Amino acid sequence: MNTIHHPAFVTASGRAVTRLGQGTWHLAENHSRRESEIAALRRGIELDLNLIDTAEMYGGGRSEALIGEAIRGHAREDLYLVSKVYPHNAGRANIFKSCEASLKRLGTDYLDLYLLHWRGRVPLAETAECMEELVSRGLIRHWGVSNLDTDDMRELAAVPHGKNCVTDQVLYHLASRGIEYDLLPWLEVQGTTAMAYCPLAQYGDLQRGLIGNRGLTNVARRHHASAAQILLAFTLRHDFVIPIPKSSSPEHTEDNAGALAIHLTEEDLRELSQDFPAPTRKTWLDIV
Ligand code: NDP
Repeated sequence: MNTIHHPAFVTASGRAVTRLGQGTWHLAENHSRRESEIAALRRGIELDLNLIDTAEMYGGGRSEALIGEAIRGHAREDLYLVSKVYPHNAGRANIFKSCEASLKRLGTDYLDLYLLHWRGRVPLAETAECMEELVSRGLIRHWGVSNLDTDDMRELAAVPHGKNCVTDQVLYHLASRGIEYDLLPWLEVQGTTAMAYCPLAQYGDLQRGLIGNRGLTNVARRHHASAAQILLAFTLRHDFVIPIPKSSSPEHTEDNAGALAIHLTEEDLRELSQDFPAPTRKTWLDIV
């Protein structure tokens, strides 16, 4: 099944969100790539990759503006736009202004999902209260968090409205599996969706030797797939996880979309785990 089964992951028009989203960090930073980046996002939308992830941080708002341009003319209610607020803006003093500025750059009047980018000094209870207010004002449909480990998630669940958090967006790829130990199982039990960022380990930049790894290469060969597709299929094996790879070209986006058709076998997983084993103890949440 290529869509996510969670009541919050449905577009305003009622379409389920596809389990593979589109990341946008570092887009809009080089003018000569702009056309290709916009074409990549549009190709993704054509392929029904309807969730697009951004943040007020990315390019100081330029990523949001680029998405605004890419989606112009497309039915807004069929898309699922996710943005994030800086921790220092995630309190009563700034969050409403931050959200409105993101909306303006995106050229829309609501976000489908608004995330606390990482935990800062603003109490989680204050952020949760403000997020609820944004929902009731109609500026956002749902809210969640990012880069929160299991203890933080437990703490959030205990504050008023904390259980309305619908996702935790965290780093997850084959070479960084720490969350499989406790965070992913906890999220699954709570019915909270996980979004996997850097699912391609920034195409190997975060882990030397990953792309040429023998196990990964063998599995890719067996499936007649690219290394990127196998990395994405690895995170897609959990049905409540949405990987959000970033692509700057229609070709990469098409390749990534192909991962939705790949189902890894036990044998594949054993081979992938040889050099990148599942965690056997708690490790701190990985971040970039
Ligand atoms: P990714 O793991 O998605 O890797 C992106 C890199 O992979 C780019 O260099 C891209 O190249 C390359 N690539 C994409 N598709 C392919 C392909 N099929 N074949 C070969 N190379 C490919 O890294 P990101 O850091 O971008 O993470 C994904 C998204 O997650 C971000 O864009 C952002 O939206 C989100 N994020 C959230 C964070 C948080 O704190 N919440 C932190 C980091 C990321 P090219 O650009 O040339 O296509």
